[in-house]
Amino acid sequence: MPRIVSVVVPVPSLGRLDYEVPPALPVPETGTRVLVPLGARVVTGCVVGRPPAPASDALKPLRGVLDGEPMLPADVVELALWVGEYYACGPGAALAAAMPPRALTPPRKGSASGFRSVRVASLTPAGRTRLASGASLGKRQREALERLAAASAGVAVSELAAQGVPAATVRRLADLGALTIAREVVEREPERTETDGDPEPPVGALTPHQQQAVEALEASAGSGAFEVALLHGVTGSGKTEVYARLARAAVARGRQALILVPEIALTPGIAARLRPEFGARVAVQHSGLSDGARHDQWRRIRRGEVDVVVGTRSAVFAPLPAVGLIVVDEEHDASYKQDESPRYHGRDVAVMRARRNGALALLGSATPSIETCRHASTGRYRRLTLPRRVRDRPLPAVRVVDMREELAARGPDVVLSAALAEALDERRGRGEQALVLLNRRGFAASLLCRQCGHALECPACSVSLTFHRAVGRTRCHYCGYSRTRPEGCPTCSGTFLEHVGFGTERVQAEIERRWPDARVARLDRDAVRRRGAAARLLRRMARRELDVLVGTQMVAKGHDFPGVTLVGVVSADVGLGVPDFRAAERTFQLLTQVAGRAGRGEAPGEAIVQTLHPGHYAIRHACDQAYAPFYEEELRFRRALRYPPAVFLVSVVVHGSLRDRTLDEAAALAQRLRAAPGRFTVLGPAPAPLGRLRGRYRAQLFLKGPHRREMREALLRVLDALPRLKRRAVVDVDPVSML
Ligand code: ADP
Ligand code: ZN
Repeated sequence: MPRIVSVVVPVPSLGRLDYEVPPALPVPETGTRVLVPLGARVVTGCVVGRPPAPASDALKPLRGVLDGEPMLPADVVELALWVGEYYACGPGAALAAAMPPRALTPPRKGSASGFRSVRVASLTPAGRTRLASGASLGKRQREALERLAAASAGVAVSELAAQGVPAATVRRLADLGALTIAREVVEREPERTETDGDPEPPVGALTPHQQQAVEALEASAGSGAFEVALLHGVTGSGKTEVYARLARAAVARGRQALILVPEIALTPGIAARLRPEFGARVAVQHSGLSDGARHDQWRRIRRGEVDVVVGTRSAVFAPLPAVGLIVVDEEHDASYKQDESPRYHGRDVAVMRARRNGALALLGSATPSIETCRHASTGRYRRLTLPRRVRDRPLPAVRVVDMREELAARGPDVVLSAALAEALDERRGRGEQALVLLNRRGFAASLLCRQCGHALECPACSVSLTFHRAVGRTRCHYCGYSRTRPEGCPTCSGTFLEHVGFGTERVQAEIERRWPDARVARLDRDAVRRRGAAARLLRRMARRELDVLVGTQMVAKGHDFPGVTLVGVVSADVGLGVPDFRAAERTFQLLTQVAGRAGRGEAPGEAIVQTLHPGHYAIRHACDQAYAPFYEEELRFRRALRYPPAVFLVSVVVHGSLRDRTLDEAAALAQRLRAAPGRFTVLGPAPAPLGRLRGRYRAQLFLKGPHRREMREALLRVLDALPRLKRRAVVDVDPVSML
């Protein structure tokens, strides 16, 4: 057997590389991290298997093996390789995404390859003999060995130091062979209080529809058979309970459950629901945890000490030994798509993982994506519905306020319509809670010079700067550029900058001005920059320590606040103008979801939706909470214009420092693609809607066709022939954002 392994390194353009394992090293298994020479450097890579045919050339030798046990299970390695191929990003980026953060980057000083570790001293048999025989030992040496003899395992060197044993003494004893020093990975206490929400009272009997769903799926959860099911349940229909029952069924069969949520803020609620049943065998995985905590939980999962993992997108790669159920909650949510390489969709990878592991993939939503609903309609996915809320609570009544009338009557600067203000007033009077949504951050959407008419723009992107009054700065929401608000216009020195459009900060200010004694808070990315801040805000809302929560789409997602009886939507139109074929779908989903936050407790709920387009089909159907007619109408539109799910899309964005040259290059690329064989059409190029980003010009083209493989292969062939362009071309298979 030749001692050769194939290794993937985190370098975008590289595929598998073969190395010879020197006799001094064990042959590492698939999933093990290794050190390999790459040009003049030595980098960390991951073994992905053996080469299919022995190489003829002499291979470079492996430099080291970093893990005793493979870091990734072989099936997760395979899944990551599939991601690398499907999304045309190469295996390196995909494998790095499948590992805990920084597992493939060089270790920082004092940490063993990304894990927190300590040096632990243990007594050797020789040391024990020396201590017992009363051999000559210094006072400090004797004390140190006595400490070690008393400890069942080893003692951390730092601990010995804290007890007055100098490092030099420890070293001397090690030289004498009386003790050994090893690096050990340490584990922190699981961050219970940080990862769990407040416990909820247990639910009693399942509703008949929940019962049906559980009974229908129980047989496949953990059975080893692959199946995909859509759980289409209206807001407040108790989908979480169905997930929990099925997790139990999978675990009873000796398998594990993986529950994905679109946002960190949704993990505490689900973790709290699972904790009474699974205790410490629940682990949480998301980027809001400290690296250390995330690694610790990851290692517990890897060792098989965990039955249920709750996490965000990247948790789809959690190293569970035999996953039997993969839930994708709020499966329609765009945050499942990663917007940097590897540009994978967590839901689609979940389905692929379920298929490879023989698991049940359960996609839950009140507003399923058009793609998923289509699969359910064709019978490819099984469909289960929860058409009613638990305890027969009514869905909220939705009222539409035509803002054209409001603006005509009260001028252009109306934030809260008379109807919404009155409804908020009533809630104040009754001590009930309200959510107010505006899917735009900041105080003013832009600042416009009265004199020359110029809007303040980002110097690096083709977008205007948003004014954030709380910090007195203008910011770019795409690249993060920020500057203090200028006194006058930078172009013409005009002295008056007008606020145009408004965001959540302005809404909050308006509500605080009108109801000075109300407890008002804001939930958006600005307000929750610090770790744990979102969870704290949501907890305060759940405990009714807040009266009004204002926010972006973050307030719309899956939360269960029984005290909320009013949801106000300040503008339903924010997403409609986006140049994206999914604009209507997103608007429908956001409005239906946010309205669904009202009336989840004893008191019935109401939603008030302000819009300039009351006749738009997305807004009309959302206000009726009528999914089926929206789906029919949207599918007709997609078919007519040949958009997904009628075809598949691949987007390519070429970026460069010169506008015209970038467009020319994209045009040359498009021309070559048009000449390539395959059943697809090429659209573009055109300047991307976001024509300039971080100082780079962007030209975009699309491939559209019935077979992803043909498009991907043509694209990779053409790009491989243009290596300099390849580095500046961003390929996005099944794109979710068209910008
Ligand atoms: P969804 O995710 O479908 O919007 P949730 O899973 O958040 O709904 O459930 C809404 C609320 O209903 C939760 O507070 C949950 O505890 C409660 N609940 C779930 N199932 C039942 C049931 N069978 N009977 C009573 N209450 C239930
Ligand atoms: Zn910018």
